[in-house]
Amino acid sequence: MADDPADLLTLARSGDRPALARLLTVVERGGPVARELGRLTHPDGGQAYTVGVTGSPGAGKSTLTNALVRRIRADEGRVAVLAIDPSSPFSGGAILGDRVRMSDHATDEGVFIRSMATRGHLGGLSLATLEAVRALDATGWPWVVIETVGVGQVEVEVAGAADTTVVVVNPGWGDAVQANKAGLLEIADVFVINKADRPGADETRRDLERMLDLTGDGAWRPPVLATSAPAGEGVDELWQAVLDHRVHLTDTGELGPRRAARVGDELVRIVAALLLERAQGTGGPQLDELAAAVARREVDPWSAAARLLPE
Ligand code: GDP
Repeated sequence: MADDPADLLTLARSGDRPALARLLTVVERGGPVARELGRLTHPDGGQAYTVGVTGSPGAGKSTLTNALVRRIRADEGRVAVLAIDPSSPFSGGAILGDRVRMSDHATDEGVFIRSMATRGHLGGLSLATLEAVRALDATGWPWVVIETVGVGQVEVEVAGAADTTVVVVNPGWGDAVQANKAGLLEIADVFVINKADRPGADETRRDLERMLDLTGDGAWRPPVLATSAPAGEGVDELWQAVLDHRVHLTDTGELGPRRAARVGDELVRIVAALLLERAQGTGGPQLDELAAAVARREVDPWSAAARLLPE
């Protein structure tokens, strides 16, 4: 069978890139085959280190990710990039993967770049991303950079589920405040003020530091770095900050509990998704019919939900 997950996994492990791309398509599609793949990849996981990169559209995430990938490669680390776009119905890397920015690495066997969008994956893109990371982990990619396209709820959820989360802001009045409002302050392990070649970087730094003074009480205070991504300026420092954060998590023993907490979140989401799937299964009353009945006040929402869930 062309898309047998065990066969694809064996091929992908031996370095077959089209097989790896097909594995990620399996993940994106979801369904029983994706779950089977999850069962196969999970026992071999835990080796990859994930770095999330998030921030507003246009902040320079793609350019910065590109520069970071180049930096990681200079250390001879192999690196995979997942570009996550919840708003796009397309998949298979057709949209983002074709971006010119990544063509820099097109012939490099040590770089694998893949876009992911919403398809049928149960529980949406955030669960699909975790599954994709496991597939990359199980096929021997030591570094996985997860770049999200915007700053919606899913993007924050996805980027925040990395071992080290990099939040990208730009110079200018209020950008740090916007980042705070979007919930990015809580998930940031490293702040990057990209486009530092433009005016206002010092003010943005001050804003961020002030916010960190108010909120920061943990053992790790996120460093605030300045980069100019197209020129690669500050990228060495960014890479060093990621490595420092990794050492911090390892030395303090935080990495294990942090990952365990994430698995807990994932389990909650899987259970919710499975229950919803069951509730929408054939046979019983349909969700939309019941919703209409609730709207007509023929039934209350709690009783309607109970009817959707078989004993
Ligand atoms: P994304 O939407 O966050 O992925 O942003 P992109 O990486 O696509 O960058 C958006 C635009 O900003 C592009 O035109 C980049 O060339 C430009 N850009 C990215 N980084 C910098 C920077 O450090 N300085 C300047 N001046 N422009 C930048």
